[in-house]
Formats: sequence, structure tokens, C-alpha cells
Amino acid sequence: MSDSVRPKNRKVMVIGLDGATFDLIRPWIKDGTMPTLQRLVKGGASGVLTTTLPPISSSAWVSFATGKNPGKHGLVDFVHPRPSSYQISIVSPQQRASKAIWNLLSDAGRKVGIVGMPVTYPPEEVNGYMVSDFLTPSASDDYTYPPSLADELELAMGGFPLLPDERYRSTKFTDKFIADMVTDVERRLEGALYLLDNKEADLFFILFWSNDMLQHETWSLLDETHPDHDPRAGERYRSLVVDFHRKLDHAVGRLLEKAGPEDLVIVMSDHGFGPVHSFFLVNNWLREAGFLKLKKKPLTRLKYALFRLGFAPLGVFRLVKALRLGFLRRRFRFQRGGGLMKRLFLSFADVDWARTKAFAVGSFGQIYINQVGQRPQGIVQPGKEYEELREEIAAQALELLDPRTGQRVVDRVHRREEIYSGPLVEKAPDLVLQSRNWEYMAFGHADFGASHVVEPIVGMSGHHRPDGVVMLAGQGIEAGVELDGANITDLAPTILYAMGIPIPFDMDGRVLTDAFTPDYLSAVKVQYSDELSERPTGEDQYSEEDAEEIKERLRGLGYVG
Ligand SMILES: [Zn+2]
Repeated sequence: MSDSVRPKNRKVMVIGLDGATFDLIRPWIKDGTMPTLQRLVKGGASGVLTTTLPPISSSAWVSFATGKNPGKHGLVDFVHPRPSSYQISIVSPQQRASKAIWNLLSDAGRKVGIVGMPVTYPPEEVNGYMVSDFLTPSASDDYTYPPSLADELELAMGGFPLLPDERYRSTKFTDKFIADMVTDVERRLEGALYLLDNKEADLFFILFWSNDMLQHETWSLLDETHPDHDPRAGERYRSLVVDFHRKLDHAVGRLLEKAGPEDLVIVMSDHGFGPVHSFFLVNNWLREAGFLKLKKKPLTRLKYALFRLGFAPLGVFRLVKALRLGFLRRRFRFQRGGGLMKRLFLSFADVDWARTKAFAVGSFGQIYINQVGQRPQGIVQPGKEYEELREEIAAQALELLDPRTGQRVVDRVHRREEIYSGPLVEKAPDLVLQSRNWEYMAFGHADFGASHVVEPIVGMSGHHRPDGVVMLAGQGIEAGVELDGANITDLAPTILYAMGIPIPFDMDGRVLTDAFTPDYLSAVKVQYSDELSERPTGEDQYSEEDAEEIKERLRGLGYVG
């Protein structure tokens, strides 16, 4: 066999199924509902793929692409407070402090085709082509590299679907919502097949994002232990959810037909999934615990009084849902120009930064300390005061009980240096509160969502977990191997190894050698390069209007305050 191993000629196809988890799909892999994945598991190496903490697509996919943890590549979430500011910034590729696999392959003279990878707008110049992701502003037609590819896709298929149509999300029309997600899979498959048939790529990547959206929305339909589980709805829609997965599997199968026998194919997710039961309103908790203070101005006092009466974004969300106005979601301009939401409701505009020690940004309990020298009105001194404050917040978070159940809300508190390493740890949240069984989601729709600290979840029933999936197959891959301890940072080095390209030594991941046969491992040596794969960064390039639109989209997905 070793005669036929030619890594330098080898192609790799990576199919991303955003948020796929064995917890949901293993039975369908076993019973043949998902025959393509069954073939991959039987004929290749597969296992749980541990991802970044917290498990957020933007940082996880960038860890996939760079082989590094967020402390090195710098992307910790979809949004983060800008350095030296309290303004919330959206992630963009300019902030990525590391070369991605498409840069490394381009440098090595290999061709890439990268489609729908999160955090690739604006698309980068590569040796090959790139179609950017759902963070592309709708007004922009510069979502491809080369730019002419957008016109070509327009002609070939009426344009590439950058994000699923979510018209029927959070409405009673669950069947129409699932149909939208199926359409997205079919359209993406059509686009991917067109690209595979007409363009050359040694590494081809495509992401199916609708999988994630479907699970957020429909988790409670299948999960009988979910507090929102409705047996009648479950009975009625279960088959549609199963059918979505059947079609997703079919799409994967159609794409794999395009891979040759020598190629390496990888099917993977960026994080796992599971039930989410409640919102945790972290800024409210910080305010009640005295770590965050509001201004004493009359307008803030008035807003606070109304807020106590329930006039808060979450209340409006409930109303919209109760009135079955979910289809208005996309037209519901909460915050055009940063305006309405901040004017009407309590927000960061009402925070008295000069008296505030900590604030939260993000949907996974990320807390930032208002440190002297780091924020314009920082009041916490670095060193002892900072450490003591972190201790205090962590201790109080662990004592916080859900008044409805008397159980803990927070399972673990991560200090940033425990989950990130590298020169950009300083940019990361100072603390991350991991909720009990991951069943609480930090409310990400607004700075302050409702007057309580915990509230029942609205508009979704599933959320991310750290355990994703990975399956590898092709020449040199051991059949039927179950991988143990695979991490999302391992994929970039593994792909480089399979393609015969030296691995930059600053990558955190390792080659998944357990996936390869002993013959292959002895024929092809793992090579490292002593070159660093760092690169300079800049701030995001979204215009203010585009940034607001993207934030609104992320808000729709539950991510942004
Ligand atoms: Zn998601």
C-alpha cells in the first residue's frame, strides 16, 4: 500500500454539520436512517470531538481552521467588548491573529475551496476560491473570492444561500420552519456540487449551518425530559426532524461521491448540542450582587422602574411569541442605529462605568472585569484587587440558586487562563460561568433582558455543548476505529499531515494518529515546520449599518446583547 501513498497529490474534503452531536444522531446512524454516516463510522475512524470553551461556533470554527486555541487566534465569541471601550464589536477575519489552513495551503501552492466557514467575511484572497458565511451583510455582493464568483453563482443557481431562511422560526408553523431548513440543505448541496464540478480545490470545505438552527428550535420536540416537551407536537413533527437528518445525510453522500479513493474525507461538527431550559440574565445578577451599578440620572431611574415592572426585552419577546408574530422577527428593528432598544430599555447606556466592577457580554456567561488601564473608566486595579474580585464573583456565582428549583445555576467558573493560553488571553473574558448541566443560556438578546436573574427559555429549546463529532475516512484511515480524546484543534494538523505539508509548530493540536493505519503512519512521517503561523490583526471592517444588521441577526440567533 505504501507505494500508492502520495500525500502531495492528495485531496481533502471537509463537510461541517454545525452542532451535530452523537447524542441525537447515533441511533439514526445505527438504524440506517443516516446511511452515509453509518458507512463513514464503519469504514473509518470516528469519535467525540471536544471543542472550545465556551462552545461557540465562531471561536470553534476558527480553532478548527488555525489548529489553535482562542488564546492564540483571539476570537472568543461572535461579539466582544472592543479593546479600551465598552462598545460591542463583531468578529471578523481581520481580528484572527493566526493563519488559517487556507492561508497555509495557499502558501504551499495548493488550491482551496472554502464555503460558508464562519468568520470569513470579507472573504480572503486565497489560491482557489472562498464563499463567505452568514455574517455577510445582506446589502453586500462581495461575499466571494474571486469577486467574479458571486456573479457566476448568481447565474448558475441564483446566488449562494449564505444563511437559511428563518421566516418560520419560533412560530407555530414548525413544519414550514423545518421545510426552510431542508431547502437550505438542498440549495447548499446544489452550490457545493456546482463548485466541485467546475472549480479545482485540493481542500474543499462546506458548512451546513441549518443543522444548528434546527436543533436550537426543535430540541424539545424529541426530548421527553425537556420542560417544554409537548407530546402531541413531538408526535406530529418528529418524523420531519428525522427526515431533515435523512436529507442531510443524503447531501453528505452526494458530496462524498465527488471524492476520489485516495482522498481524505472528514465529516465533523464544531460543537455538540443538548437541552436548554432557562435564561440566565448575567448582567442582572451582577447588578443585584453589586458588581454593576446603574447611573443615578432620572431617565435611567425611570427605565429601571419600568424594568422592575416587567418592561424589558424578554417581555416583548414573549409577547411577540404569544401573538405568534415570530415571522416579524427579521423586520422587528429592535435596534436600528443602536437606537430603539437602548432608548426604551435598560442597557449599557445606563451603566455607571465609574462605579462598575464587572459586566457580561455573550451567551455563555462571559464576564469582563472593568480594569484600570484596560477600559476607559476602569476601576479595578490589576494584581491583588483583580484576583480578589475574580474570587469573589466566582464564589458568589457558585452560590447562586435558581429560586424555582433551589438548585445551583452555575456548575463551574473558569478563569480565563484555565481555558485559554497564548498571547491573546488578555482579550478574553476574565471569567466564564458554566451553567449547571449546560441547561441555562446567558440571555444574549439585550444587555439587560428581564428583571429576574433566571427566566424560562423563550424561542429555543436546545443549545451548544462541548462535545461535537468527527468522522474520517479514505486512504490510510483505519476502519471502525473509535477515536478517544480528539479536539477541534487537531483537525488542521491532521489535514496538513494527510496532504504532506509540514505543521507549524505553534499549532496546539496534534495529528490524530489513531485514525491512521500503521502502514500509513510508517510510510508518511509527521513533519513540523519551525515557522510561526501568526499574522497581524486589525479591527473589524463592518460599516455601522452593516454591524447593526449583523448584530440583529446574531440577536435573532440568541447571541448578542
Ligand atoms: Zn448554535
